[in-house]
Amino acid sequence: MSIINRHILRRLTQIAFTLFILLAPAFDIFRYDSATKELFLFGKVWTLGITREIVMEQSLKTATDVAAIFFLKAILPWLAVLAFFPLMGFLFGRFFCGWLCPEGALFEFADFLTLKVLGRRSLYAKADNDPSVDKSRRWIYLIFGMLFFAVIPPVVAIALSGYFIAPSTIWHQITTGNLSTGVKAAIIGVTIYMLTTSLFVRHVFCKYVCAAGLMQMLFGWISPFSLKVRFKKEEFSRCTDCRKCERACFMGVKPRAVKRDINCVNCGECISACERELGKGRGLFRFDFARDQKKHTALQPEKRWE
Ligand code: SF4
Ligand code: SF4
Repeated sequence: MSIINRHILRRLTQIAFTLFILLAPAFDIFRYDSATKELFLFGKVWTLGITREIVMEQSLKTATDVAAIFFLKAILPWLAVLAFFPLMGFLFGRFFCGWLCPEGALFEFADFLTLKVLGRRSLYAKADNDPSVDKSRRWIYLIFGMLFFAVIPPVVAIALSGYFIAPSTIWHQITTGNLSTGVKAAIIGVTIYMLTTSLFVRHVFCKYVCAAGLMQMLFGWISPFSLKVRFKKEEFSRCTDCRKCERACFMGVKPRAVKRDINCVNCGECISACERELGKGRGLFRFDFARDQKKHTALQPEKRWE
């Protein structure tokens, strides 16, 4: 995969998944209608199909059928939902965080704007791995950033309230200018949450707070074969020590370090950065499923980047 393609593909998967999350209620893909107490799944109302007549039936066969229906339509789907992030972590490490998570994408976008305005990713201080950028258009990025964070959080809040209030009801409230308390509360809550996390917390949230991220981290760590970005230690002599791989890493990981860092989200930006330095196909990183940490020759002390 070319450098540009990997980067663009990651942005496309982040945008596509974000749109999916925002639009799922509008298309009845998944939502719970708190007014009618109905759960919608892929365009249909989700029911167990257990009627009063069936429950009143005394036969053992009916009891077994009811138990089977309950297991298949109630317990199994929830087990599948609960198993999603552990399974993702076991197979792909924190791939979901790097390629799909809407919050991760938002934090990266906040990093980008802060970099353009202040010349560093963080609001607080310059980090050792902050890339150098041209700040000549800082005012344009500042105004764009302020507009973005004034408009997008309320829009996201309205879209997310569709998970609990029928989208047609919300649309009616918007067009008549008569927002319900639930929608107003969602707008205020989501706006405060998005501003706080994306302006002041960002990837610290991914590292220490997000339950989905922590589950992927844990199961990726214990998995013998989860996806990881591997530094080709055996070829370290080709490294020019340009540090482009480190500057590309918004998670603050040192990609060349001997020890695997559990905060790596498998975004592949360090792979692309190294290929920009050494040429396509000549980079010193690769995606890898193999468990071969101990098989590699340890780096010489002067070649460790920890
Ligand atoms: S080490 Fe590389 S793949 Fe991992 S988060 Fe950093 S840039 Fe992404
Ligand atoms: S980008 Fe490649 S060549 Fe540059 S420091 Fe990182 S590993 Fe070395």
